[in-house]
Amino acid sequence: MIESLRTTYATGVTRSYSWRKQQLEALDKLIVDNEEDLLQALHDDLGKSTAEGWLTEIGFLRSDIKHTLKHLRRWMRPQRVSQPLLAWPGKSYLQPEPLGVVLIMGAWNYPIQLLLSPLVAAIAAGNCAVLKPSELADATATLLARLLPDYLDPKAIKVFTGGAETAQQLLAERFDHIMYTGGGRVGRIVMKAAAEHLTPVTLELGGKSPAVVLNDADLPTTARRIAWGKWINAGQTCIAPDYVLVDARQHDALVDELKKAIHEFFGAEADQASDYGRIVNEQHWQRLVGYLSDGTVAHGGNYEREERYIEPTILTSVAADSAVMQEEIFGPILPVLPVNNLAEAIDFIQRRDKPLALYGFSSNRSTLQQLTENTHAGNQCNNDTLMFMLNPELPFGGVGPSGMGRYHGKFGFDTFSHHKALMSRPFWFDPKFRYPPYTSFKQKL
Ligand code: NAD
Repeated sequence: MIESLRTTYATGVTRSYSWRKQQLEALDKLIVDNEEDLLQALHDDLGKSTAEGWLTEIGFLRSDIKHTLKHLRRWMRPQRVSQPLLAWPGKSYLQPEPLGVVLIMGAWNYPIQLLLSPLVAAIAAGNCAVLKPSELADATATLLARLLPDYLDPKAIKVFTGGAETAQQLLAERFDHIMYTGGGRVGRIVMKAAAEHLTPVTLELGGKSPAVVLNDADLPTTARRIAWGKWINAGQTCIAPDYVLVDARQHDALVDELKKAIHEFFGAEADQASDYGRIVNEQHWQRLVGYLSDGTVAHGGNYEREERYIEPTILTSVAADSAVMQEEIFGPILPVLPVNNLAEAIDFIQRRDKPLALYGFSSNRSTLQQLTENTHAGNQCNNDTLMFMLNPELPFGGVGPSGMGRYHGKFGFDTFSHHKALMSRPFWFDPKFRYPPYTSFKQKL
């Protein structure tokens, strides 16, 4: 099957602007025609509400496609660069060309967006693609595997469903690029397999993304924005604030404001709230319940196995070396830790793996600048959470253990393209001094 994609690629069909445009429009049509079924699948897999599903998956993807279609012609154009005098006359360009046949492996938490947004970039760049959705979001994976061949060119785009075994079979093949979204453990497997074929990889991984709340932050707004970013998709978001470092003088007040925000969003009983999701499976549910004893439950702490429900929970008095502070939480539990000042917060962050996202909350611009300049993170957003995802002019990706490479908008197009260095020279000017023999006169030149 993968060989047949190579044959398709070799015909050159995927290189044309018209093919790319037509495929992107067809993908948009797939989403529009099947919106209801897609939202239902998200609900089946993660208890995702319609509003959340629309905001973070359907709407996100449609605006990604729209942005790509709007700029595609320009992105595809060779970009002229200057020509040095020594190489005059002539012209130099960066010529974007597709990579060939690429593999895209998605994660389960945003099972539509994380599979199809890389696909938008891969199509835009003129590639054939193999898609491997995550088996943990089974309803969505099955639906996409059924729909995609009906809308997209089946000779150029194929979907393989299945678990780790299928993924490993695919990884044994030679691809021209692999984009993997998921945890670091499998990220290492992907990178090792790719090394066998010297295939370049983009790894969109995770980690513990901190939120730093300083003394002069607007607490009610800060709390609402942290609560929104944390408890959307029941905390199963790679860029969710994993934990909060708060100025010790504001610790109790912030916890109170967070409680208010939870109440405002989900009412007194979050299990009854239509906008509150469920944990993807029993194994993750159990892992998360285990974290509840790693601190004092300041809010929430209730759970229900049958429904894979865990209440939005705030943990205080959490030890920095406890499991909940060592592993990525990836669920609805928020540890809040006091720090004495910005320097202590920076030190705490710098001693740990470089996170995927970092959130700073302060009314003082120079304080936020200090945080930016003294920490590492894939992405940073000041005085809010998650919102940076809405700007296609910003790249998305991690750094160090939170990932390598980036995408969204033009950055995705670039990830799935090779920017060939191209110089073209005319015949009419061919002075002999560049050729041997190199006489002493020529050497002086
Ligand atoms: P997952 O379990 O869905 O796995 C991702 C992919 O890896 C799937 O296609 C799966 O089939 C495959 N896989 C699983 N085991 C494998 C194996 N042994 N060999 C080969 N392939 C295998 O995803 P996950 O790891 O549970 O996802 C959660 C993690 O992903 C979190 O760490 C989260 O932060 C991260 N994440 C990152 C982003 C991002 O954009 N950076 C987005 C979402 C999730």
